[in-house]
Amino acid sequence: KSSKLPNIPNSIFSIMSKMAAEHNAINLSQGFPNFPSDSKLNDLASEAMREGFNQYAPMAGDFELRMEISKKIEKLHSRFYNPESEITITAGATQAIFTIIATTISKDDEVIVFTPAYDCYAPTVELFGGKIVPIQLKPPFYTVDWTEVADKISSNTKMIIINSPHNPSGMLFSEEDMLELQKLAEIHDLLVLSDEVYEHIIFDGNIHQSASKYETLANRSFITASFGKTFHNTGWKMGYCAAPAYLMKEFQKVHQFNVFCVNHPFQKAFATYLKNANHYLNLSNFYQQKRDFFLNVMEGSKFKIVPSKGTYFQMLDFSDISNENDIAFAERLTKEYKVATIPTSVFNKDGADYKQIRVCFAKTEETLAEAATILKEFS
Ligand code: PMP
Ligand code: GLN
Repeated sequence: KSSKLPNIPNSIFSIMSKMAAEHNAINLSQGFPNFPSDSKLNDLASEAMREGFNQYAPMAGDFELRMEISKKIEKLHSRFYNPESEITITAGATQAIFTIIATTISKDDEVIVFTPAYDCYAPTVELFGGKIVPIQLKPPFYTVDWTEVADKISSNTKMIIINSPHNPSGMLFSEEDMLELQKLAEIHDLLVLSDEVYEHIIFDGNIHQSASKYETLANRSFITASFGKTFHNTGWKMGYCAAPAYLMKEFQKVHQFNVFCVNHPFQKAFATYLKNANHYLNLSNFYQQKRDFFLNVMEGSKFKIVPSKGTYFQMLDFSDISNENDIAFAERLTKEYKVATIPTSVFNKDGADYKQIRVCFAKTEETLAEAATILKEFS
């Protein structure tokens, strides 16, 4: 029998984390913190288990958690999502993205994606018969040319996927970007999938441009977020999708047969924890310090670095160090120098190589300093 995804290899995150473990390298590849999440949150999860929240949650998710999310979005972006009909709790943003695409994309639908793009979008679109129309963003600033986007829209375009703050580049969409997107989506009647998993990790006083801020855009957008990024527990695989009721109704038709519901005790823990906004409101500061620490310890290295504006990732341009392709370079760095990173050509169409590797700085200062000492050996 033929494969539905014949050309899809293992995800680069599995490959590099495995290589890091095998070669005893510092793992700055796959994005996850190497420090613990708040023990209070862990206690809330065990408490929820002790209190008996060990059976199915409601299909759309624990209602108290949906209410907290609704309040949070309204407070931050002045848009009300009805917790009854416009929010669903998912197994991380990955499941939300899969379900959004399964809900909306049929054979020959075109989906515009900005590359380098997070790796789950394209295979999922292709699984449902859709076609990816890539738009390449280029270093050092990865800005979008909206005339190019307008040119790539056809009568088959069904959806545009955006991701700000952007993994892997650390670029942010500005208000102007969002207004251009809103205009095009409106003119061409497009859906938008706004991947906002790094919504609370934004630096240098910039603000997050959520699709929910813009009324006509919000009315055609699925927004997804991830608790794993915000609360330092990527292994819990918890997130949510917010969308206007007419879209959420369709999303839930798929969700109910995809997972039905996601695990209950962690939802209870987040419902209580989210009542205190300090955690996520301080996150940008917390990660800006890590970014600045890393940039500081990298001073004098031969990598060219444009400071990340958001996410917990930093791109390193190695074009002054080596002519190797980024996969070979990242492999050598892991095996010989013991620092694992992500070669970002895998996120581009046809593997276009701009000599950029991505490091994750969601690490202790000790780890970052140790890695920087090695990376500076190239100087
Ligand atoms: N989108 C982006 C841009 C991501 O970086 C990630 C996680 N690395 C996800 C989605 C998936 O999030 P989750 O782990 O919550 O499934
Ligand atoms: N989102 C994480 C990253 O970009 C990895 C998630 C995964 O391993 N699938 O590194």
